[in-house]
Amino acid sequence: MPKSNAKPVKSHAGRARRPAEVLFTSANVERLEAKASLGAKFLRLLDKLPMRRVCEGGTVALKVHVGVGLSFTTIPPLFVRLLVEKIKAAGAKRVFVTDGSLTVNEATARGYTAEVLGAPVLGAAGVKDKFFYRHKIGYKTLKDIEIAGNIEDADALINLSHFKGHGDCGYGAACKNLAMGCITQKSRGDLHQLEGGLTWNPKLCIKCKKCVEACTRDAARWNKEQDRLEIFYHHCVYCRHCVLACPKDAFRISGGGFVPFQHGMALTAREVLRTFEPGRTLHINFLTQITVYCDCWGFSTPALIPDVGIVAAEDIVAVEKASLDLTRDGVPLPGSLPPGRKLVDGKHLFQRIHGKDPYVQIDQLEAVGLGTPNYQIKEIR
Ligand code: SF4
Ligand code: SF4
Repeated sequence: MPKSNAKPVKSHAGRARRPAEVLFTSANVERLEAKASLGAKFLRLLDKLPMRRVCEGGTVALKVHVGVGLSFTTIPPLFVRLLVEKIKAAGAKRVFVTDGSLTVNEATARGYTAEVLGAPVLGAAGVKDKFFYRHKIGYKTLKDIEIAGNIEDADALINLSHFKGHGDCGYGAACKNLAMGCITQKSRGDLHQLEGGLTWNPKLCIKCKKCVEACTRDAARWNKEQDRLEIFYHHCVYCRHCVLACPKDAFRISGGGFVPFQHGMALTAREVLRTFEPGRTLHINFLTQITVYCDCWGFSTPALIPDVGIVAAEDIVAVEKASLDLTRDGVPLPGSLPPGRKLVDGKHLFQRIHGKDPYVQIDQLEAVGLGTPNYQIKEIR
């Protein structure tokens, strides 16, 4: 695999390209009958995708996120089963459902079983997260990544993602399902190392903890074991109130790690997709039960906005951009925000919640050549 030295870009918005087709079906039920429901519309949407070209004759990896702990807003097993049946009908030699090796053990607790889904549920990197192929990346501290062996060994990939908010990325969906979900736990840690932007000078610090008190996001924390300041970037909105509260000018926080982290995710997603022949991957985002935080948080909060529907495309950039655009101006439902959370300025609802521009992910995906943010919606009714 080629080594990447691509640099992050600030924006590629507006670049003229041929629009990608994005299939969309609405969660709205226009008539009270089964064939007007989201389940039936999902089946009709799948019939419009090139399932035979993608799946026929091959081993198909169906990547989902099964959630962690008490989370329950992941894609319902029924929809996964419907998709498995379509994959089989499209002539796949075999199909398996997969998630990270350390989370897939929890699949049964949420109903993702072989009996329900009609396909085995496998850890992406084997039973112990030790089955992987190493790929060079060569971007800042991200020297390489360990791509899950069961993903790389498959002939085709259906990337089935739940769209929701995420403190580190602004949002999580198709890109995150690949970049965080198709690699080993060690590589996930390496990716997170790209976040950052804290420079703390212990010689100047008098340990008054005014920085911690100034943070309303619970992001500035005092590490008692190491007796030092640390920042939990998942919660940080880079407001710099902590910096301004410091009487000794003992630290700086730049937020400069956000774009490199998104770029590292895009490079990783590209490396995962490169293990498949062209035309053998599909991306499907469920814009249902959209929550503030990720399904890996360990519990679920109420839906942030009413269900929107399902989008699907061969182009991962287009499917992600369409998902963001469809939710950009959402108004939070009563009781859906974390207690005390106040919205900040931003171009998307998730930026107003997490302080991070989710469209940066789109820019980075486009910058590494994964597709186009220019799309045309084709609605399936
Ligand atoms: S920049 Fe703002 S959110 Fe981040 S740690 Fe400082 S005060 Fe907290
Ligand atoms: S406010 Fe400044 S001096 Fe006080 S603990 Fe924080 S970094 Fe140290």
